[in-house]
Amino acid sequence: MAMEGLESIPHITERGKQSEKLPVRYEYARPMFLEISQEDEDTSKDHGQRIILSPRDISRMPWHAGYAETINSGKSLYSNEDQASIQVTHLTLNDSEKDTTTTIPYIMFGIFDGHAGTGAALTAANTLHVHIKEKLNSIKHFVAREKANVVTEDDPGLGCITEPIPTESLVMGTLEEAFAEMDDQIRRERETYRIKGGCTAIVALFLQGKLYISNAGDCRAITLTDDFEKLTELSMDFTPETDRKRLQTLAYLQPQLLGKYFGRIEYQRRLRKKDIGQRVLYRDRHMSGWSYRSVSEDDINRVPMIIGHGKRARLMATIGTTRGFGDHDLEAPGGQWIKPFLTPIPEVRIADLYSQEYKEGDVLVIASDGLWERITNTEAQEIVRETFNSNPLDEKIYTQMARDLVLAARGTFGKKGWRTKKDQIASGDDITVFVIPLCCHQTPVQPGCLGETCDDLLEVNPATYPPSGNPELTDGGAPVRN
Ligand code: MN
Repeated sequence: MAMEGLESIPHITERGKQSEKLPVRYEYARPMFLEISQEDEDTSKDHGQRIILSPRDISRMPWHAGYAETINSGKSLYSNEDQASIQVTHLTLNDSEKDTTTTIPYIMFGIFDGHAGTGAALTAANTLHVHIKEKLNSIKHFVAREKANVVTEDDPGLGCITEPIPTESLVMGTLEEAFAEMDDQIRRERETYRIKGGCTAIVALFLQGKLYISNAGDCRAITLTDDFEKLTELSMDFTPETDRKRLQTLAYLQPQLLGKYFGRIEYQRRLRKKDIGQRVLYRDRHMSGWSYRSVSEDDINRVPMIIGHGKRARLMATIGTTRGFGDHDLEAPGGQWIKPFLTPIPEVRIADLYSQEYKEGDVLVIASDGLWERITNTEAQEIVRETFNSNPLDEKIYTQMARDLVLAARGTFGKKGWRTKKDQIASGDDITVFVIPLCCHQTPVQPGCLGETCDDLLEVNPATYPPSGNPELTDGGAPVRN
């Protein structure tokens, strides 16, 4: 997530609970599937070189999926704040009557873009899959009957009040709940562990012929199909600008969350004292368009809760994304608590992979905002097309695509710093890219594959797992600070 410009804003602090004396939840490391040596890991931290890392043994990546990453150009001191994970695993159904066991394989790819520390991203990369698996286990009997609809439990007196619920809606609910639990785990565990900062999250789940993209933040997923002719967006970027109506609605319901310094209304321009009594263009929680309102003295004394556009948009002058995990103690200038405005809930989009025959060149691209801040979807499409056409039969082709995408956004270092091919300023952020072939979704992964299986639920601290009940909620939906 972009945090540039933050340096100029004073007094951004995390509240005192995160003592430096607490043990870290997970030690900093690069993703396990990279299998990089200590030497490479050390080199990867060099912001001057910004080497592009890919897995050591590409033939062990599930479906030969491509991955590449590089560090930012110095915005975080020693670490790449992006994290990634791959899970190759399955659900197991035992039928004791027939004495049979069925397994339902599934694969997940995740990217977690950290900010203000590596703790939240590391925790999510290491444990989100456990929450997802636990939730999927509770619906596996429905998932096994993928084609059948799930019917709501019938009450003979009243009957069903909804339509039959398709299995994919249960999987969607599972993902939404798992993301919420992940964030709540971080909230609880930060009492006993140092889990610094926050992170955005995007997860691609391949299950029973469907692709589920769960996105909370400003990572992005697109598919390129039909000989690279067709580009489909499978996520939207959640920023203060795109999430504005949700944020303003919460501020309307709970105005105390804005404190003394921030105001709910967005204005087309910065207000000055002489604007009092004048009519100025504005937008509120219920508006997509603009209208005029008369400016009051209170209006000019408040900074709008959302300022800026695109990558520059900020919530409460502090944070550039509005969804993800962590940030439980993040404060705005003036000490205002920001977390109530942030949500871990992803938007889940579903692609039915059975509806089409895929070819080798058809891919899913998932990347952190470090890529997308310099590469448009269409540019990514062109890069992937060119790379594929240069050597379509190479088993490393998806890795090469991922590397070429990272390279295009990172650029090369010269007299004017990091510049792209077109001599524009290159991305200064951490960049992480997966390129995953779609033609393989029905193919079992090859033996010896690198994706970590996650059968060991105890990876999550047993003292706090499973989570007990809901995060505390007030009527307005904002969590109570603890
Ligand atoms: Mn980023």
